[in-house]
Amino acid sequence: MAKGTPKPEELTSSIDYNPPATGWRETPVDFKEGTFCHGARPSYLQDVGFPNAREWAPADSDWKLPENWKEIFLEAMGERLKKYRSFQLFMDICVRCGACADKCHFFIGTGDPKNMPVLRAELIRSVYRKYFTTAGKLLGKNAGARELTLDVLKELWYYYYQCTECRRCSVFCPYGIDQAEITMIVREIFNLLGLNTDWIAGPVSNCYKKGNHLGLEPHTITSNIEYLLDDIEEITGIRIEPTFNRKGAEILFVTPSGDLFGDPGTYTAMGYLMLFHELGLDYTWSTYASEGGNFGFFTSMDMAKRLNYKKTRQA
Ligand code: SF4
Ligand code: SF4
Repeated sequence: MAKGTPKPEELTSSIDYNPPATGWRETPVDFKEGTFCHGARPSYLQDVGFPNAREWAPADSDWKLPENWKEIFLEAMGERLKKYRSFQLFMDICVRCGACADKCHFFIGTGDPKNMPVLRAELIRSVYRKYFTTAGKLLGKNAGARELTLDVLKELWYYYYQCTECRRCSVFCPYGIDQAEITMIVREIFNLLGLNTDWIAGPVSNCYKKGNHLGLEPHTITSNIEYLLDDIEEITGIRIEPTFNRKGAEILFVTPSGDLFGDPGTYTAMGYLMLFHELGLDYTWSTYASEGGNFGFFTSMDMAKRLNYKKTRQA
């Protein structure tokens, strides 16, 4: 471990794991500086044709939402309950066993109970019960239901953008409830209201326009790979000569663009460049579809499909 790197117990010693004195429904979201991303800038949303592109900030009281935001949200939620059977199932079957409660790194790192996967899901389940179940419509709070108010929408945004969709919690759930999938669907609904983060919307726009999330231009990709080839030659004495955008190659190789740009990914790239050379593979790189990750999954299923299509089109 590098000198000066704090030990795990030093990092967690200041985190308060005691729940707040008030119930989760009565504890409004506190947009703590440093715990949320900037709102997506308008140009990123416009690049991919997403609605309600405007300047806004999550900590502002006015999010500049469309007047009928509630209607849009609930209609979209109803559509997705019909479209994704998993979503409907995940809204109904949690038994609150708590097996997932301490498995999320956001809970471990903040001590905030709403970052427990079980409670993160409960935030949207309460809205589901209010508008989509008979018990919730009749019995309200007694059936675990609550109104979709602006405060609730903000709370949903705050906590659903604090999930990295890593799926760690689902591994521990005896029912296989996949919080990552719930997160994807809730974010899909947010994007109908222009509620994305700058960090996600930027990479999505870059992937759409340039083919990779870093926004690397074709000549940057080729010259970065040239640097790696120079290093390989210096170490091994072998000059590898990969091809770019070559028609007729047997394999179109698409890798995470970070491998071409930053350590330690560059070492991985050097490794597979040598391996492919040794195996004599007939492959080529695309400088236009150059992102192995799909940033669309942080946004919407449709966006994921649109970004995937760039790769199949190149192939
Ligand atoms: S999928 Fe989301 S809620 Fe589950 S552990 Fe990962 S970050 Fe936490
Ligand atoms: S492990 Fe599964 S069933 Fe248990 S509380 Fe978490 S989501 Fe619910």
